[in-house]
Order: sequence, then C-alpha cells, then structure tokens
Amino acid sequence: MIVLKSEREIALMRQAGHILADVATHLRASVRAGRSTLEIDEDVEAFIRGRGATPAFKGYRGFPATVCVSVNEEVVHGIPSPHRRIAEGDIVGLDLGCIVDGYYADCALTLAVGVVPPNVQKLLDVTRESLELAIKECWPGRRLSDVSHAVQSHVEAHGLSVVRAFVGHGIGRALHEEPQVPNFGDPGRGPQLRPGMVLAIEPMVTMGSWEVKILDDGWTAVTKDGSLAAHFEHTVAVTEGEPEVLTRK
Ligand code: MG
Repeated sequence: MIVLKSEREIALMRQAGHILADVATHLRASVRAGRSTLEIDEDVEAFIRGRGATPAFKGYRGFPATVCVSVNEEVVHGIPSPHRRIAEGDIVGLDLGCIVDGYYADCALTLAVGVVPPNVQKLLDVTRESLELAIKECWPGRRLSDVSHAVQSHVEAHGLSVVRAFVGHGIGRALHEEPQVPNFGDPGRGPQLRPGMVLAIEPMVTMGSWEVKILDDGWTAVTKDGSLAAHFEHTVAVTEGEPEVLTRK
C-alpha cells in the first residue's frame, strides 16, 4: 500500500531533507584526497546529530555507519573504513539519510575528487541529469513507470547502463515504503502519482554492464566488470502542482 502523507508529515520530511541538503553542501567542500571514508562518516554523523536529527542508516538491518561511502566501482552500500583513503581522481558516492520526529529523508550524490577524465565527468553529469528528468515526471496523474523510463532513456541514450538490482522507493515513517521505483521500464505503467506521495528516486548508473555483485562484507555492491558507477538521489514529494524536492534548499 502506498501511504499518502499529510502536509504536517511532509513538513517533517522537509526538515529532515533540508538537513541532508546542508550535509551535501558540507561534503562538496570537505571530501578530498587523503581523508578516510570513516572520517567522512564521523563528520556527517556529528553534523546530523548537531542538527537534532538521527542518522537513518546506522543500525538499519545491521549497517554499521551513518553514510554509505561507495568509491569508484562500488555502486552503493560501501562501509566506511579507517583504511580506505580517498585518492585524487576517485569518484565518491555518498548516500545519506536522517530522521526528524519519526520521518525519514534520503539522498545521495557522487563527487569527483580533483580532476577526472571527460568520460567519467560525463557519467556523473548524465546520472544527475537522469534524476532531474525523473523529478520532472512527478506530477499528479503521471504513472510511476514514467519516472523509471525518464531515467533509463536518458542514461542509455548516452551509452551508459542502469543498475537493475537496486531501486528507489517510497519513504515516510519508514526508510523503505511502497512503491518500488525502478530506474528502468516502459512508460505509462504502474500506479498513478497522487499528491502526498513521497518517492526516493535514485538512479545508479555504470560505464559498463549493469550487473553487480555483493562483496564478502555482505553490503558493498560493486560492478561485476569493475566499471565505474555513479549514484544520485533525492526525496521528492508529489504535490498538486510542481514536484517538491525535499532534499534540496
Ligand atoms: Mg534510497
């Protein structure tokens, strides 16, 4: 069942989302070569708690940290480590969630550290653009798979691949609610979007094949062929009019 959110509920999710927007701004300025992924995690946890919110991922199904930090061929769910240091030329995926008064927000971004080759910058740009195109579909009356199709068609038009094994999701009083929001599919299918629906839309895109595997740590998803991957995500509320991106200020 898709749970529609009231204005009051969306206001709390907006509060949570705006904290994540501030974290993202902070990360764009602070993720640099030489820092360990655990240092980034500790920094973000302090930031979220300093704003009176609670990290959403820490302890979720046993995940040990506040941020999923996924470097280069890691797609999602990378576990922060004191031994993993960011290097010049890396691309660093950062997936963040927090809770305000029981309501969740979820977002992700992928940062290039220093200068990356044009094809890698294109991976980041196309993934971010595919998210923006998906958000533009979030009007009442559109179908869920219109969102999915917007991602897939943009990504594949640029010769890149959409990961199938992970999908976006409804979000609210739980981190993962119905419906699932795949990043692929034909348009015009699935439930109609309605005001009060809140979706976490999160394209995961690779430069090679879309196939992934999970490492022995039980969490980290990497591309099977070792190609680079990018991940962007926003929490988006369907309204009577223009979609509201709750994780953007
Ligand atoms: Mg998510």
